Amino acid sequence: MPATTLRLILGDQLDLRHPWFEGDADAVYVLVESRAMNAAFPQQVRRLLGFLAAMRRFAADLGATGRRVRYFKLNDADNPGDFEGALDVARRETGAGVFEWQEPDDWALDARLDAYAATYADSRRHSRHHFLDTKDGVAKFFGPRRRLMESYYRDIRKRHGLLMTPDGKPVGGAWNYDAENRRPWRGTPPLPASWDEAHDLREVHADIVASGLPVYGDAAADRFPWPLDRAGAERAAKAFLDHALPHFGDFEDAMVTGSDRLFHSRLSFALNLGLLRPMELCRAVEARHRRDPERFPINAVEGFIRQIAGWREYVRGVYWVDMPGLAEANALGHSEPLPALYWTGKTRMNCMARAICQSVETGYAHHIQRLMLAGGFALAFGVRPQEIERWFLGVYVDALEWVEMPNTLAMSQHADGGRMTTKPYLGAANYIGSMSDYCSGCSYDRKARIGADACPFNTLYWDFWLRHSARFIDNPRIGMAPRAALKIPPAEQAAIRARADFLRANADAI
Ligand code: FAD
Ligand code: SF4
Repeated sequence: MPATTLRLILGDQLDLRHPWFEGDADAVYVLVESRAMNAAFPQQVRRLLGFLAAMRRFAADLGATGRRVRYFKLNDADNPGDFEGALDVARRETGAGVFEWQEPDDWALDARLDAYAATYADSRRHSRHHFLDTKDGVAKFFGPRRRLMESYYRDIRKRHGLLMTPDGKPVGGAWNYDAENRRPWRGTPPLPASWDEAHDLREVHADIVASGLPVYGDAAADRFPWPLDRAGAERAAKAFLDHALPHFGDFEDAMVTGSDRLFHSRLSFALNLGLLRPMELCRAVEARHRRDPERFPINAVEGFIRQIAGWREYVRGVYWVDMPGLAEANALGHSEPLPALYWTGKTRMNCMARAICQSVETGYAHHIQRLMLAGGFALAFGVRPQEIERWFLGVYVDALEWVEMPNTLAMSQHADGGRMTTKPYLGAANYIGSMSDYCSGCSYDRKARIGADACPFNTLYWDFWLRHSARFIDNPRIGMAPRAALKIPPAEQAAIRARADFLRANADAI
């Protein structure tokens, strides 16, 4: 099929409304299931399944509009396994002399595609439309001096008139209702049993098995629960708005046995693949509040919009400003290997068993489970940041480096030395017990910090502040923690350190 132009579409660029589809008469669209990218680290099988299935659907939808598509499946004999190789095959087949691509959200791939484009006499790079800010906008705002999330978030709200009154004030009178987002939840959430999708992906799963790529977990291939196309993403968003958004604010940080989602949206996968745009979701949330402020209170809508217009945009900015150094950052000098429990979920710690089993089996955990349990334990334990980072990159269906890496290395492991967040996020049983029902089902003593039955989170929490007291003692946000650690009587400090060393040496038996 002769063509003048090849256009590459990556697996997280599945947006049929991208403006480049308006003038594309002679383009051939190339989609590649990349073996090289997926062989680099083990991943939860639903992550790969979701990406491949969504790409295949997108290619079919694109074909149905009359566009020409060259699709390379994972095990196709003529799929060289990487983007450049597959593009070269398509280039030979079509004789195309022009290469076009949408800017990738991945640092290494961005550089690779720039280099690849240089092999064409004519090439064009297109910007993406699935963030609220442009890449240039991020760089300009961040400038040489790091800005905090809150100031970036306010700037984005002002620029887009998002949740703003006509006279330029934040709706509700305050910018941030974070303090009203911290109630624990007890019992069964008042939600329909499930509004998840149930796709039959057994064929795609068979391809994954045949490929021999390193995957783990329950595929749920006959009832795959994540939205795979635009219509599914719209259904999932509507169900979230109807049922869970009203409670999102109050219980945003809560964790409860028996409900993976609680009141979270599980829309990250659809957002990250380009099936949903962040602005349309924010506007839909804003509209609910305008129509019915009692049912959709300001702490719920602002809390949700902050996740998207604040955190999601901000971590993307951190990624581009701090790469490539971020990938190797290890400001705290942590060097422990990742304990096996991160793969097996086998531990006496009820909170970790719940969070890790759920993650490894299903590929989903909500933010507080990721930050305060999976991430918090690794931080307190002293795991080498790059090991826990690869675990996070493989385990969640929504994991993409631009969003996962800053969240893991900077936010949860403080490996960037505080460039992104001013304090490490670390909680002991006090915090975990107040935000969840996990401690009541745990054989460890949530009140103790030393002794064979002491909650390991407690021991490791105090050990962390003792080990890193010099670094954090003058920190205005968290200095009280190392100061309190240093006030512990010396004999007890020694016992905490000894118990922490024991836990590290016997990680498989915790
Ligand atoms: P909700 O709680 O319903 O939030 C709504 C949306 O806000 C999410 O879908 C997401 O798009 C956005 N959001 C919320 N918090 C963040 C955040 N901190 N950073 C960026 N976006 C945010 N998110 C990913 O999309 N991919 C990842 O690989 C990823 N890795 C993470 C690793 C760690 C260590 C931590 C602490 C967080 C990570 N997050 C990641 C952010 C967040 O935990 C997930 O976006 C969220 O749990 C997805 O579930 P949800 O859609 O139900 O979120
Ligand atoms: Fe987790 Fe400690 Fe509570 Fe057990 S007691 S659930 S280990 S915080």
